[in-house]
Amino acid sequence: MSDTFRALVIEDQDGKQKAGFKTLSVADLPDEDVLVDVSYSTLNYKDGLAVLGKGIARRLPMVGGIDLAGTVAESKSPDFKPGDKVIVNGYGLSELYWGGYSQKQKLKPEWLIKLPDAFTMQDAMAIGTAGYTSMLCVLALEKAGVTPDKGDILVTGAAGGVGSVAIALLAKLGYRVIASSGRAETADYLKKLGAAEVISREETMGSGRPFDKERYAGAVDCVGSKILAAVLAQIKYGGAVAACGLAGGNDLPTSVLPFILRGVSLLGVDSVMAPREKRIEAWSRLATDLDKSLFADMTRVEPMTNLPSLAADIINGQIKGRVVIDVNA
Ligand code: NDP
Repeated sequence: MSDTFRALVIEDQDGKQKAGFKTLSVADLPDEDVLVDVSYSTLNYKDGLAVLGKGIARRLPMVGGIDLAGTVAESKSPDFKPGDKVIVNGYGLSELYWGGYSQKQKLKPEWLIKLPDAFTMQDAMAIGTAGYTSMLCVLALEKAGVTPDKGDILVTGAAGGVGSVAIALLAKLGYRVIASSGRAETADYLKKLGAAEVISREETMGSGRPFDKERYAGAVDCVGSKILAAVLAQIKYGGAVAACGLAGGNDLPTSVLPFILRGVSLLGVDSVMAPREKRIEAWSRLATDLDKSLFADMTRVEPMTNLPSLAADIINGQIKGRVVIDVNA
């Protein structure tokens, strides 16, 4: 195999971050202990921001891609040996450390998780950070006591990556799922994933008052801002919302009423720095609780060369489900 390989590199151009494809060699990679031959990465909302130069990279030059799946080629760590199949999600890839949009990458061993037996590398990237975040949201709701018998669960930003996987997981676990989507044309897709009902963003807003009629036992929110405020106002007594996203904005124009009058909990979910035990728990639950037969509907595989246009699509809310990036195509 040739010593050189391709990567998507974000660099400074006249004071702005600009992404482009470059040819690198192993000597260009960071000085980390495990060299991985990357097979697949993914496209998450944050990847879209990074590829469009919207300030995700905090060091330049930066190789984008917050997820990767590949095979260990060389390792100075006793925990990994050549041939091991591994995945990485988050840990500051594409922000502080070089990420998965590269045919090879050097990584810290403590970031690597062995590929669960239940998944191929492509499956693991069909899940990616988005899907593993969905599982973290489900785990947070379970820990808050939101069980299927408590009532309906709302998923906002439903047709996106986190939303799609959250619907599939919750439905398989026996929850009655209401999907909130701004794209009416995705209704059949969302029902196939397991949504019992699909509602518009307008309907999700309810009355718009800070304290509304009790409607949902819990929610997974990918959107933030006014939608999250409206969701909080409609959570039943003692319910909870797992908040992981900001696709609609990072503000939260709400009041304390749902918290102090209904005992509602707002559960923050972070995937990037989640501790290793939590990641392993999430991936082992994904192995049992995600119906793999849905991957074909939920996922498409795209070559790395298409990243610039895919990045614009995800930021414009035009991606349905998950996109796997084949870095060698
Ligand atoms: P996607 O772009 O795939 O999904 C986001 C969805 O949100 C869209 O598909 C759309 O769904 C909806 N949406 C988009 N724009 C708006 C808007 N202006 N108002 C209301 N709804 C909107 O992204 P991901 O699923 O990858 O990520 C979802 C969110 O979760 C992002 O904000 C991302 O940054 C965050 N995230 C956070 C993580 C964490 O660790 N906390 C990890 C992973 C993601 P529809 O068309 O159905 O309405």
